[in-house]
Amino acid sequence: MSTTLKDILERVSIIDRDVTELNRLKSRLPADRPYSPSLQLSFDKQINNLLNERIALMDLGLISPPSWLSLKSESFEVLTGAKDEAKAPEPDSLSGEHPSEQLVLDFLRALPKTEIHLHLEACVSKKTLKFLYEKNGNPLTEEEIEEKFNFKDLMGFIQVFFFVQSSVKEPSDLAYLIESLHDYLKSNNILYSEVFFAPSKFIQNGLDFDEMVDVMVRKIRDIKSQDGTDIRILVDVSRSFGPENAMNNLNRVLKVRHPEIIGIGLGGAELMGPAKDYAEVFKVARESGLRTVAHSGEDDGPWAIWDAVTLCKAERIGHATSAIQDPELVKYMKDNHIPIEICVTSNVFTGKYVRKEQNHPVRYYYDQGLPLAINTDDPVIFNVNLTYEYFKLYRFLDFSLDEIFDLIKQGVYATFAPDKDALWKQVEARIKTVSENFGYKPKLPVLT
Ligand SMILES: [Zn+2]
Repeated sequence: MSTTLKDILERVSIIDRDVTELNRLKSRLPADRPYSPSLQLSFDKQINNLLNERIALMDLGLISPPSWLSLKSESFEVLTGAKDEAKAPEPDSLSGEHPSEQLVLDFLRALPKTEIHLHLEACVSKKTLKFLYEKNGNPLTEEEIEEKFNFKDLMGFIQVFFFVQSSVKEPSDLAYLIESLHDYLKSNNILYSEVFFAPSKFIQNGLDFDEMVDVMVRKIRDIKSQDGTDIRILVDVSRSFGPENAMNNLNRVLKVRHPEIIGIGLGGAELMGPAKDYAEVFKVARESGLRTVAHSGEDDGPWAIWDAVTLCKAERIGHATSAIQDPELVKYMKDNHIPIEICVTSNVFTGKYVRKEQNHPVRYYYDQGLPLAINTDDPVIFNVNLTYEYFKLYRFLDFSLDEIFDLIKQGVYATFAPDKDALWKQVEARIKTVSENFGYKPKLPVLT
């Protein structure tokens, strides 16, 4: 099958028109009607799908391009005879006034990154899901899988998680989940990641915790020796099943001692399980040398974050979108170096404190000097990736490329990597190489 560039450009222009129209309709959505959250969700999902399609179209490669196209910049001079640089039309450049969005995206994708707030189930590709369902005797068509991901509301979102969890029938299946995660990390140049693994549902389904951990750790070590990608696991003890279940999960974690299993997280429905109920779980974890993080202030107010940082002493907070309502809390988190794991797309989906990207508090937090890390939360489910999360900061929140370098650096220092300076040196060297390749000269003193 072949198509012409004209067809592709026509499709891109239709996408642009549709995205503009959807954004216009979304902005007219009344704020506090019962149907607003699910409509918001459906608008955002459609917009994200279209933008991802646009990126995929612009990324399409040409087989045997004509030489005048592949040697664009050199032959341009020959064709125009333009020797005087001042007179030559401005080529697409990151240092220019208006670099093309495609160039910025390519640059952001090539930059090395870390990601520390993402859920394993939400990184599994649809291809892997199809394979697992088939392998486990319940084959599904691509359309049936697509249908599952076409959710309209929060309930549908939770159903997708269950759908992914149900693809796992035995501990060895988790190796495929880690493999899928690895593909995601590679395609976004993520060198180091910390990933939430929520065992509660798997244990309910009869799987053994130790066996699951062994499978994942073995796969993680294979990947590390293959290409150096570093994956660490934070076990989500979960607030959805109550404190007793969380303590049981913690005890399971304490029994396994692999350097890849670095700590615990508190995820799940925030309003159903306030952080303060889990203070004891966090205390035991902390005293046993585990790292601790909590989702907080995503669905509840700043008081919930206060509980997470003071009663649970969580070392990082996931989301914290409601912290902006309390300047004292922002100051406390800054003074105590408690990073926020920012997940812009996810917060717009949830729609509780952030209704569109332009209003996300990440700009305010950054300007206030809060330590931050940029993340996707649930890349496959929201149809986003880390490259695009950074792009959103550039496109909607006025972050310059140099500020993005700074965010990448903050992201490194927000990790629990054993030697953050060494990790930053590695990341910094690659940022310099990528910048050189793209002809971009950084202006901020983030890089040494
Ligand atoms: Zn999360």
